[in-house]
Amino acid sequence: MQNSALTKRVVIGLGSNQEALINLRRALLELRRISQFKILKVSRIYESVAQLPVNAPLDWDQAYLNAAILIEVQNFDPLKLLDQLKVLEVRIGRVTTEKWAPRIIDLDILHVDDLRFKTENLTIPHPMLAQRPFAFLPALEVEPGMPLIRKNDQDYNTKISDRFFWPEFVGILNVTPDSFSDGGKYLERDNFLIQARKLVVAGADYLDIGAESTRPSAKPVSLVDELNRLKGALDHLEELRQEGFKFKISIDSRHYETILKVTENYKIDLINDVSGLTDDRILKLIKSQALSAVCMHSLSVPARKDLVLNSESNPVEQIQNWWLQKEKLFASHDIHEKNIFFDPGFGFGKTVEQNQYLVEHLEDFVKIQNKFFIGYSRKSFLGTATDRDMTTAQITHRINPAVSQLLRVHDIETQKSALRMPHAI
Ligand code: ADP
Ligand code: MG
Repeated sequence: MQNSALTKRVVIGLGSNQEALINLRRALLELRRISQFKILKVSRIYESVAQLPVNAPLDWDQAYLNAAILIEVQNFDPLKLLDQLKVLEVRIGRVTTEKWAPRIIDLDILHVDDLRFKTENLTIPHPMLAQRPFAFLPALEVEPGMPLIRKNDQDYNTKISDRFFWPEFVGILNVTPDSFSDGGKYLERDNFLIQARKLVVAGADYLDIGAESTRPSAKPVSLVDELNRLKGALDHLEELRQEGFKFKISIDSRHYETILKVTENYKIDLINDVSGLTDDRILKLIKSQALSAVCMHSLSVPARKDLVLNSESNPVEQIQNWWLQKEKLFASHDIHEKNIFFDPGFGFGKTVEQNQYLVEHLEDFVKIQNKFFIGYSRKSFLGTATDRDMTTAQITHRINPAVSQLLRVHDIETQKSALRMPHAI
């Protein structure tokens, strides 16, 4: 990055106590979309109790979630930045309320390099930073060198959350005889339900049910078998719902007939199509049923070792160009970008080196504004360690949550512990 005087490292504080996790995620996504900003670091999510004046109405006493991000801002202008944040706050849904009342989103400029700035509407560093542990603890996480004289006589019970995480988790549950990791394990009802329950209790936002293995040299499944396996699984999931478990359902299928039948008979939240929405009929169905879908990059399904991205040019550029074509297709079907998730397709049509390059360079996909859905769990490019969930966790630990919003994984507990870890110990 250029080292111009106008490029500044800015720490922004995010806070919410109304649908807090949803609104923090939304703010992070919107901040990434501002091309003048580059999100360098994102803190973990902190919980605290509301800071309230005495005699505040009882319903103002709602727990807060807070976080901080470090961004590099080009053409930095403090008042313009404050305006941009206020526009974002309004777009996310902030309404003017009394001071201290519950709020949908609060975006504050906490600290900017060595800058001291004071006007009527803006003070940098933020005037309350030193008194608010829920602001300075996340801020120090992303800008450890920040000089700060803490004045935390009150701690507001501030702690790193062990319940709330930036990404959404998509738990993998295959009802196939031959998937590379869990093939054959969950075909039988009891085993299926044990695993489904385990994933949901661990915090799966989605369960991704697949009935066709797409690993290299997997055998194609007949439509009848695929549908029957999925129906069985979906009936079992209905039992879980009856028990009061809450989760969304994703169907890992690339076959129009299957998707049609399944969506006719069950409430499905997401279509995970590893062939990259190449079938127009699937796109029409997504539009007419207002479904969400994952559009994954691949060169062939199942993956073939001899069919990979061009080695002469940057894999990010090749995939980004593929995506720009896809965007035209979505637009021609009048499908809104918020309903389609981008998946770079680790392990599909890439060499080991290309997969590793992509993992390290997800932030370079600057032209893609959609949410990122990434599936790297236990894949062979991560190496041959016996505990693949640990290797997977090393990637999870390093993801930038401003870039990757949905993580498709086999073992959610291990991945969560990776997200809880500090970045430097
Ligand atoms: P809070 O103090 O909880 O952030 P508000 O978001 O309502 O409360 O902020 C009130 C006003 O504080 C803003 O409208 C803004 O003009 C002013 N302000 C002063 N310094 C800052 C700063 N560093 N970051 C954000 N707002 C600031
Ligand atoms: Mg504010």
